[in-house]
Amino acid sequence: MPLVSMRQLLDEAAKGGYGVGAFNVNNMEQIQAIMEAARETKSPAIVQASRGARAYSQDNFLYHLMLAAAELYPEIPMALHQDHGNSPETCKSAIDLGFTSVMMDGSLMSDGKTPSSFEYNVQVTREVVELAHAKGVTVEGEIGVLGGIEDGHGAGGTGLEHVTDPEQAVEFVEKTGVDALAIAIGTSHGAYKFSQKPTGETLKMDILIEIHRRLPRTHLVMHGSSSVPQDLQDVINKYGGKLRPTWGVPVEEIQLGIRNGVRKVNVDTDNRLAMTGAIRKVLWETPEKFDPRDYNKPARDAMQKVVALRMTQFGQAGHAGDYKPVPLAEMAKRYAEETVSV
Ligand SMILES: [Zn+2]
Repeated sequence: MPLVSMRQLLDEAAKGGYGVGAFNVNNMEQIQAIMEAARETKSPAIVQASRGARAYSQDNFLYHLMLAAAELYPEIPMALHQDHGNSPETCKSAIDLGFTSVMMDGSLMSDGKTPSSFEYNVQVTREVVELAHAKGVTVEGEIGVLGGIEDGHGAGGTGLEHVTDPEQAVEFVEKTGVDALAIAIGTSHGAYKFSQKPTGETLKMDILIEIHRRLPRTHLVMHGSSSVPQDLQDVINKYGGKLRPTWGVPVEEIQLGIRNGVRKVNVDTDNRLAMTGAIRKVLWETPEKFDPRDYNKPARDAMQKVVALRMTQFGQAGHAGDYKPVPLAEMAKRYAEETVSV
């Protein structure tokens, strides 16, 4: 199946009342893990690359691996998404390369660290919406500022310093025309999200519910949504790792979000933990091994297991065959005719 727009995947998810995991990739094994999990669970797939991932893979390696995935898994609708574009230029380069969806994170200035003004955010996001929609490409924006730092991107902090204001979210969507909206409700990037087990009060789910009430047709996005499971931490620490005690976002909270308009759920840390644990185990137990396949294959299997579990938990499992891909040119036409709107 050709790469499809993320908008189509999220529209279908809204119809079906489920969420779609968006998993970060940097290399072949991670793409294979996601695609195998998608095949195993019959799920649509969102594969996303940060600026760091694009630099690591020199862009073209990653893009051509994605084309290989589209060839090898023709039954899986899949979107290739730019995660946290820091400027219109970054988003444009992703679109030129063939990404079918981009995030313009104008909640931060282009340094990827400094919180920006509302006006700046509207301006850069609107600019990206215009150039992306002309090509049928989906746009995710962000209002409020997420916590933590990942791949050098982020304002740091707990994620509760710049929680999204629902009224501002409405104004932002009206002024920009984004397809999907990342909101800050207390989640943060990276492994160290919470220093104790989160309770039902830790995340600002009431704000999420209020935003969905006011913007029922906007696809909401939860970032920093790894659950950081204890068993994955334990494997790493058992085989020589040194993770400090930490807690992530409970899957039940994500499922509550999905019942209230969350259609895209970003997961990266859990996969990193799974792969690193698997590699550590092989190297610890069989120090005589030196063929990279001896540890890359278990790492890939471990990530596939996590991704398949999340796909099932988010409800996207079983939905890969529900629809036919709409070509990007057709999406562009629909945007121009305003038959697709937020
Ligand atoms: Zn993020």
